[in-house]
Amino acid sequence: AAVRPAPYLDDLNPAQREAVETLDGPVLMLAGAGTGKTKALTSRIAHLMVTGRARPNEILAVTFTNKAAREMKERVGRVLGQTVEGMPWLGTFHAICVKLLRRHAELVGLKSNFTILDTDDQIRLLKQLIVAENIDEKRWPARQLAGLIDGWKNRAWTPEKVPAAEAAAFDQRGTELYDYYQQRLRTLNAVDFGDLLLHVVTIFQTRPDLLEQYQKRFKYILVDEYQDTNVAQYMWLRLLAQGHRNICCVGDDDQSIYGWRGAEVGNILRFEKDFEGAHVVRLEQNYRSTPHILAAASGVIGANEGRLGKTLWTAEQKGEKLRLIGHWDGEEEARWIGEEIEALQRGARGMRVLSLDDMAILVRASHQMRAFEDRFLTIGLPYRVIGGPRFYERLEIRDAMAYFRLATSPDDDLAFERIVNTPKRGLGDKARQKIQIAAREAGVTLVDGARLLLSEKGLSGKGGAELRSLVDGIGRWSDEARRPDHNHIELAERILEESGYTAHWQNDKTPEAPGRLENLKELIKALEQFENLQGFLEHVALIMDNETEEHGAKVTIMTLHGAKGLEFPAVFLPGWEDGLFPSQRSMDESGTSGLEEERRLAYVGITRAEELCTVSFAANRRVYGQWQSALPSRFIDELPEAHVEVLTPPGLYGGSYGAAGMAASASPSIMANQASELHEKASRADVYSSPGWRRMQARGAARPVSQPSEARNMVIDMQAVSAYGAGDRVFHKKFGYGTVLATEGDKLHIEFDKAGSKKVVAKFVVEAER
Ligand code: ATP
Ligand code: MG
Repeated sequence: AAVRPAPYLDDLNPAQREAVETLDGPVLMLAGAGTGKTKALTSRIAHLMVTGRARPNEILAVTFTNKAAREMKERVGRVLGQTVEGMPWLGTFHAICVKLLRRHAELVGLKSNFTILDTDDQIRLLKQLIVAENIDEKRWPARQLAGLIDGWKNRAWTPEKVPAAEAAAFDQRGTELYDYYQQRLRTLNAVDFGDLLLHVVTIFQTRPDLLEQYQKRFKYILVDEYQDTNVAQYMWLRLLAQGHRNICCVGDDDQSIYGWRGAEVGNILRFEKDFEGAHVVRLEQNYRSTPHILAAASGVIGANEGRLGKTLWTAEQKGEKLRLIGHWDGEEEARWIGEEIEALQRGARGMRVLSLDDMAILVRASHQMRAFEDRFLTIGLPYRVIGGPRFYERLEIRDAMAYFRLATSPDDDLAFERIVNTPKRGLGDKARQKIQIAAREAGVTLVDGARLLLSEKGLSGKGGAELRSLVDGIGRWSDEARRPDHNHIELAERILEESGYTAHWQNDKTPEAPGRLENLKELIKALEQFENLQGFLEHVALIMDNETEEHGAKVTIMTLHGAKGLEFPAVFLPGWEDGLFPSQRSMDESGTSGLEEERRLAYVGITRAEELCTVSFAANRRVYGQWQSALPSRFIDELPEAHVEVLTPPGLYGGSYGAAGMAASASPSIMANQASELHEKASRADVYSSPGWRRMQARGAARPVSQPSEARNMVIDMQAVSAYGAGDRVFHKKFGYGTVLATEGDKLHIEFDKAGSKKVVAKFVVEAER
């Protein structure tokens, strides 16, 4: 094809152009975040087509996510000024390998319509094998074996290639079980994720003729996020690249964040050795972020050892410092971020007006998302969760809520249907049909139908006994839920215990199970904001009603891992607390490699921000109604002061609301609304006494306070004891006026004029005007 003018080249700096225009031989683009690696890679694809060097189906381009693949196709299309018809080999490693394996399945003993097992299936299969081999599954859980096998597959080891040094694994049986497992998969005509690559590598290694065909076909190979490839992927690439040797890899050793999944940053470091004569391009100009953001990110990553080390600069002059703020607790953090997002939409904070699409909240752990979802739903802020269903749509949450629904209304047949055999109670289709019929004939609810069936001895055996225990449970729980003074949080916990639902996930050895248990804890936490289960369920029902697909701008909530390669004008990074970020596991580990990976994750997070980056931490998080205080992340200390603005928690305005000051001003004559404001400030004042602020004080960023625990106790005492005492008249939004009978921690026992005696959380009441 004729060489057309190439405006896309004008958008690039000289180093990028070099990477795009060096078409022959291996090229490595090794550069920091936001330097235009992906942009250059995309331009290179366009350039290959424009110059006629390759047709779309001769280009193999590997991206890290399917989303990135779609975006790259779009970008290439834009550069070319036309939609790209068929770039069949642009996708993730997995997507490309599925395609190859379907073509050649028979070479590894599969049929081309093989199924791909998800992790659940994989574990179930392994469990069967373990049991069949008479191995004690409790001591040798299937999940552990799955991890082992995944690790071997990531290293491209088939059973016979697993080195002798690994023979001791899994009670000496590891490799043997791995072999059985592979045989089982073959009989089932199935593969797991790891197999996708492994099988293709095996095919290439055993069939040089076939390999040669592909080597010829793929004239150009391009790989984004190369720092996160594992050994199997690396071998696969090397095999294919040996033909034309036109391989272009781009990456950043500082952004290697998948070591836990077998990625080897060493791959990028030895590229020059593997591909002799490689042309190495370094990009140093960052086009994404303002100088303060860049400097903050560099400061953090600078604490890692064994880096290649890169210079990053930006032509940008202005911009906000990275903002740092500490909060009393996770809810407060979510509330504040919600307010900030609304402010940014109005063009506050000295920024241009931002759309919700311009903003993202990047969390370390997905259970952090719930607080934000709740808050945003309450204030009607549209959001999207990337990389997983929204909190209330998750399986375990829906199950748990079905149980709660039955406690508040035992006639909720849909809820009953959902959980009658979850966890497994030996109630198959037949048994469930019997319940349906019994209910229909008597014209009663399913729960009552089940009772009838049991009393008529229409169901016996294990299923009958378990059903009996379930309907008895529902009876007990709903009695309890009707008692006006019941503690709905305790009730919810009991329901999940007594129904066997919690145990069901505790006994589950799949990798998802711990996350699901985390989410159940989060659910219990969410209940604290409500007076009873009913109120909570209504809240969620309203949320779900809002689910109808709305278009329009939305705030993005996603994990840091998922955010790789993306960028947003404003980024919020919540939960920077030791134990959460860095994770507890990385802190407990011996050596620093885990911590260094967490630090790279921090670097990835900060460098997603273009104009505004806000890091926050909470002094306390509530778990099961218990305060757990946390230290601010050690990464916070690594943020260079000159580029950080420490924000004062809202409501304080630099004033001193120490506990003593609070006590003095909390006189009974204060008007109701002032009182509520004061309570809010009291809790915020406590932020000052948190460990985070003490560290901040050491840096001169906050004023000194006394011992944190003392100060906190004083504030809590103040809230519950000084501010309210027996005999005080108070007002509660839902229950109206009442008189305090007693105080218990942060709860008040109140005799309401109309609603009767109840225990409510102190912060939900205000002092009544006398
Ligand atoms: P990451 O390491 O985070 O994946 P990256 O190196 O892949 O980052 P890109 O996403 O390609 O960086 O580019 C970052 C931003 O800079 C994008 O908005 C891109 O459009 C812009 N950009 C890249 N190169 C240039 C350039 N030469 N001129 C102007 N803008 C550029
Ligand atoms: Mg990129």
